[in-house]
Amino acid sequence: MNVESFKQYSLEKDMRTALQENQFFLHYQPRVETTTGKIVAAEALIRWSHPEWGIISPGEFIPLAEESGLIIDIGDWVLDEVCAQLSKWQEEGIQIVPVSVNVSANRFLRNNLTEAIQATLEKYQIDSSFIEIEITESTMIQYHDAVFRTLEQLRDLGIKLVLDDFGTGYSSLTYLKKFKFDTLKIDRSFIQNLDTNPEDQAIAANLINLAHALNMNVVAEGVEQISHLERMKKKQCDQIQGFLFSRPVDHKEFAEKLKKKIIK
Ligand code: C2E
Ligand code: CA
Ligand code: CA
Ligand code: CA
Repeated sequence: MNVESFKQYSLEKDMRTALQENQFFLHYQPRVETTTGKIVAAEALIRWSHPEWGIISPGEFIPLAEESGLIIDIGDWVLDEVCAQLSKWQEEGIQIVPVSVNVSANRFLRNNLTEAIQATLEKYQIDSSFIEIEITESTMIQYHDAVFRTLEQLRDLGIKLVLDDFGTGYSSLTYLKKFKFDTLKIDRSFIQNLDTNPEDQAIAANLINLAHALNMNVVAEGVEQISHLERMKKKQCDQIQGFLFSRPVDHKEFAEKLKKKIIK
């Protein structure tokens, strides 16, 4: 076995223990209002502190968790952790913002997603307006009917729905017609070369118009440069998420940012 496949093998093997031994933790990345720099929401992003391999990014282990099915338990852990954290911040008198959670396609196959979320919100006494669910276009394609039913239940519960990585999947426009998302996230691949690529400029500008025409909020992901921010501001993109304002940070650092409210 080469190092990579050995690593994959051992990660898959260690993942269940990781959940029991609390090796997973969350980072929070602010989403800011484009015009003011005010933090209006955050995205919860999982990390794994592995005893031998160090910090492992989700890009490396989430696909493995999806294969093994452990993604269901990991997803439940993420939601519980987010609600617990929101509840702690509220107790500390910190003014919280909605936190979005990435939900894998597999999770929509289980029909108790709505009930599970509702139970967790009640457990921590968190209002449903403080949780957002991010799903990707590929989720919509894979599990069509089950997904639509569940999305409608979640919306009835008062949970905001975010269509993630927009523009990278297939027949995305059909989904916009069939289901009303609250927020659309323009994928980073359209943002990273904004300064030099006229095609990306045209796509980003038109995705913003499209989102607004359909009454959705629009977020530009992966904003790293001031020039990207300026361009998105000009095109009236509502919110920005990216390293320019902040990398994903741990809960302590995020709480400090929440106290300041505005990122300069
Ligand atoms: P995503 O949902 O598209 O999350 C955004 C990713 O872009 C994050 O990577 C974030 O750190 C990164 N990012 C944000 N701003 C910038 C920027 O300005 N420049 C660059 N280069 N990158 C930026 P991360 O945390 O490594 O997560 C990767 C993916 O793993 C996520 O992509 C998501 O698909 C998945 N993931 C993360 N946490 C979870 C989770 O709790 N559950 C599930 N099912 N998937 C998760
Ligand atoms: Ca996401
Ligand atoms: Ca994304
Ligand atoms: Ca992505």
